[in-house]
Amino acid sequence: MPEEKVPSGEPGTSEELAYGQNPDHVRPDWQDYFLKVMDTVAERANCDRGRAAAIIVKDKRIIATGYVGAPAGLQSCDEIGHLIKVAFDERGGQKKHCVRTTHAEMNAIAQAARHGTSIDGATIYIKMTPCLDCTKLLINAGITTVVCRKRYHADHDSVRILKAAGVDLQVLSEEQETYANME
Ligand SMILES: [Zn+2]
Ligand SMILES: [Zn+2]
Repeated sequence: MPEEKVPSGEPGTSEELAYGQNPDHVRPDWQDYFLKVMDTVAERANCDRGRAAAIIVKDKRIIATGYVGAPAGLQSCDEIGHLIKVAFDERGGQKKHCVRTTHAEMNAIAQAARHGTSIDGATIYIKMTPCLDCTKLLINAGITTVVCRKRYHADHDSVRILKAAGVDLQVLSEEQETYANME
C-alpha cells in the first residue's frame, strides 16, 4: 500500500503547498491595519460633520479608540440635530461648528484615562489633521506621533504647534477633508 503523503509543514520539503500554506494572501501592513480599524470605529460616530475616529497605538497594540460623538448618555446629533455655534476668525470670516460632540481624539484620550492606560509615547491614527484644541491635548497627553489620512481645511496652527512640540506629524494625503455646510 502506497504511503499517504502527509504535508510535513516543513518549508521547502515539497513542491506542493503544505496544508494551510497561503503565500498569495496579502496581509495589510500595520498602518493599513490601524486605518481599517479606524474606519470601523468611525461608523459609531453620531455627528455627520466628519464622522471621524481615532486609534491610539503603542508597540503595535491598539490601546484606546474614540469617535466623534455626544457625551455618553446624552442625545446625539443624529438623534436631535447639530448644536451649531458661529465662530469668527481674525479676518472677520465666520465658521460654523457643531459643539454637541466631543472630537474623536479627545474621546480616545478620555477612554485611556478612564481605564488608567498611559498613552505617553504613543501614536494616534486619525482621519484628518487635528483641530487646535485636540492638538494641545495630544501634546500634553504624551502623543509623539500623529498619523493623519488627510488635511483638515484649517490646520495651519495645529501643524505649526505639533512641529514646535517635536511631534512627528505624518499626513498621508494632501487632499482636504470636506463635509456639508462647513463654512
Ligand atoms: Zn453635530
Ligand atoms: Zn479636535
